[in-house]
Amino acid sequence: MNIPLANAVTDANADVHLATIGGATGARSSDIYGLDNWSDDLLHVRSDGDLCLCNPAGDTPVVSLPQIMDALAQRGISAPIQLRVQPFLDRALDRLHNAFQTAFRDTKYTGSYRGVFPVKVNQQSDVIERLTHAGKPYHFGLEVGSKPELLIALAQSMSPEALLICNGAKDAAFIHLAILSQKLGFNTIIVLESLHEFEIVHRIARDLDVRPILGVRIKLTETVTGKWQASSGDRSVFGLSALDLMHLMKRLQDTGMIDCLVLQHTHLGSQVPNIMDVRRAATEACRFYTELSALGAPLQYLDLGGGLGVDYTGERRADENSVNYTVDEYCANLIETVRYAMDEASITHPTIVTESGRFVVAQSAIFVFNILDSTLYDSSEKPDVGPGDHHLLDDLLAVEGYICGARLQEAFNDAIYYRDEIRALFRRGQIDLQLLSRAEQGFLYLLSRLKTEAAKEEHAGQIDEQLTGFVDYYHGNFSLFQSLPDVWAIDQLHPIMPLQRLNEPPIRSAVLTDITCDSDGKIDQFVLKGGVSEALPVHPLRVGEDYYVGVFFVGAYQETLGDLHNLFGDPNVVTISLDDAGGFDIESETDGDTIAQVLSYVEYDPNDCLTTFRKTVERAVKAGRVNAAERRTMITAYKDSLAGSTYFGAER
Ligand SMILES: *Cc1c(COP(=O)(O)O)cnc(C)c1O
Repeated sequence: MNIPLANAVTDANADVHLATIGGATGARSSDIYGLDNWSDDLLHVRSDGDLCLCNPAGDTPVVSLPQIMDALAQRGISAPIQLRVQPFLDRALDRLHNAFQTAFRDTKYTGSYRGVFPVKVNQQSDVIERLTHAGKPYHFGLEVGSKPELLIALAQSMSPEALLICNGAKDAAFIHLAILSQKLGFNTIIVLESLHEFEIVHRIARDLDVRPILGVRIKLTETVTGKWQASSGDRSVFGLSALDLMHLMKRLQDTGMIDCLVLQHTHLGSQVPNIMDVRRAATEACRFYTELSALGAPLQYLDLGGGLGVDYTGERRADENSVNYTVDEYCANLIETVRYAMDEASITHPTIVTESGRFVVAQSAIFVFNILDSTLYDSSEKPDVGPGDHHLLDDLLAVEGYICGARLQEAFNDAIYYRDEIRALFRRGQIDLQLLSRAEQGFLYLLSRLKTEAAKEEHAGQIDEQLTGFVDYYHGNFSLFQSLPDVWAIDQLHPIMPLQRLNEPPIRSAVLTDITCDSDGKIDQFVLKGGVSEALPVHPLRVGEDYYVGVFFVGAYQETLGDLHNLFGDPNVVTISLDDAGGFDIESETDGDTIAQVLSYVEYDPNDCLTTFRKTVERAVKAGRVNAAERRTMITAYKDSLAGSTYFGAER
């Protein structure tokens, strides 16, 4: 299906100049959100204020994200939506492959590259199929870490030269199937994680009379920085230590299987922030490789695992959500290190394998949700005060008289003080609810005045920080636990920004809350031009108009780690490609979970639920509390809900 978008604006490269943003004149909206830092040329703000996708495949018109959302909504596919952009995935694959080819040429490296995609990073069939298809010319393969993942890999059509690498703990059934798959033409390599695993392999291979293709996972002593620092080096759960390795080499020799050992594997952990760590680890991996070769293992593949990071903040520094290198630098560093080590030891340059998951898929998906409502923490309305009112209300409102430059902090402190005194009086029964409510209104009014004045100050100091405690809540139609689990669990930062009205100053600041009833269900860390902020600049909501927020680079790890907190299920998923005329094609769509599906995941039978509900309604009819027409409405409402989405509908 080809979907040309109406009123495409042609001045695709026009910069958007805004009159004022947070008091800064002439700032561009892309500046506020740091788009130029992190978007990696994939996104662009059009002069009509729409955030657009750029087609990496050519110099074609950009495609408006709000228009995509509208076009999908017209087809009944409503937010929240996980939007996969196929050309973004293709670009990442191309880049990785080209970066290695360039590094080979530049360093006169004579080996080749065989990338594999670690299935755990995104197991969704659409993604795996796209990857194996687009990766065919590069002989791109798959890495699996469990039996279900192995079954996925064996159901794909890959290049006959692609590798299928089996990592992780394995039982006899896993190993049995892996060895059998060699007979089907898969280049299945069993990477030994322990001595025990070798004994199972040895037994099964002998019974099947097949020579298995083996790898060995090495536990490096070098540690890496980043989120997975604690499980690197000695404390890595995976792989063989030097001691275990010598035992394994002996067993391989004793059983006549040393010829089977063709691959050496190491993995540092995901999102390695510092290129120096990559280099040090590669150096150590090469030491093992040359030693094992000298001990008689016919190694051909040097598998350096994953870890190639994504710069989520665009800061380009060695930090948890950023990296201090590009993919080109990553490849150049690896290849230079390996070439040097191999030449030193006079060993043929090995085929380089990497298991880059995050880099390949992270940028290819965008999670989009609509804002349902907002709670504003300020007010432009001042309450009335009468002669009989408690004097504290007067005192509170008198603070307005000195909300200015040097006295901002004092005014803020006093406003808090009087508000708290009034609250205390209410708790002790000395004032009524009516007065308390006017005092709260007065406090919100002062906050609004304080925010306005603080925005005018160049250096408002601590007051700025204190006022971020009073930003708005924008309530989004999503579940953090289902769609952005890493944001909740490991403080992952994703670039987040509104998709529309970017030619208007975003004059409000908000924390984004989700629709679970969990107070952890919120996003309060945002990547902005000036660094990480606790609030997102947003526009005031308009009645009857959708306001979409995009969470970018969510293609890696987020889709299946999520859970069913409050029973919010998978959102709708749409895969699109971009056409030459500024439109898009829907390549595939998957409906989000229905309520019936979600109920069945937690062991209810939706039909049983309906039957019980019917009986309850019927009893009410018998008792004369409900008439026949009401009965029909109730049953229909229950049935429709079962078949419907777990998220909020378009009706508001
Ligand atoms: C998770 C994992 C990867 C993927 O790492 P990325 O940083 O996402 O590239 C690769 N190899 C192994 C063994 C893994 O466990």
